[in-house]
Amino acid sequence: MIIILVGAPGSGKGTQAKQLSERYGLAHLSTGDIFRGEMAAKTPLGEKAAAYVKSGQLVPDNIVTEMVAGRMDPASPKYLLDGFPRNLEQAHSFSKDLASMGLAVDLVVYLSLPEAEVVKRLTSRRVCAKCGEVFNLLSMPPKAPGKCDKCGGAVVQRDDDTQATVTRRLLVFRDLTEPLVAYYRAEGVLRQVDAAGAMGDVTKKVAAVIDGHLAESKKK
Ligand code: AMP
Repeated sequence: MIIILVGAPGSGKGTQAKQLSERYGLAHLSTGDIFRGEMAAKTPLGEKAAAYVKSGQLVPDNIVTEMVAGRMDPASPKYLLDGFPRNLEQAHSFSKDLASMGLAVDLVVYLSLPEAEVVKRLTSRRVCAKCGEVFNLLSMPPKAPGKCDKCGGAVVQRDDDTQATVTRRLLVFRDLTEPLVAYYRAEGVLRQVDAAGAMGDVTKKVAAVIDGHLAESKKK
């Protein structure tokens, strides 16, 4: 089963993907997390991606598509993708790569959220520099200011969550990523979920969509 989560930065893709991948036994593949990991480890891939990630631009398609294909195991195609594909070119080449493995995208869940809410969530988001746990100063602050509840690491703002970069990332989303919604809708695999509200409530809504899809596929 291959499921894609599409949504603006800050729509909760990463948080939802963590919950849902566990629940459905899917491998969570987050291209943003991979880039951040490679950047922290200062690998050649990380060095190539750094300037793009820090300024809120997309990393070139050839780098991303190769990276994703290289991490997928066709013998066990159970993936929840978060942050990929990010534009139509990536979606087309991903469909081709999947077809060559005899696979296809099963379901695309679009987490929709008004832009004002996106900006509010992103600029108040904080992450643990050590373990990656995500916090929000408004809705889910760390118990001790600046300190991770899980591992005690420093809770910091992501380089690309500053107001200026958030504006750029939103433009990129509107221009390049949002067209995926129409593309996958035309393919008949898109479901839209309202991503406003508490994290647990959104997880329930997305799980209901996945359960519905699983029940439908059983009938076929
Ligand atoms: P995210 O954590 O998904 O918001 O991604 C953080 C940053 O990583 C993005 O702003 C891009 O610079 C880069 N990135 C993540 N996924 C992709 C992708 N599929 N294509 C190009 N760049 C990406």
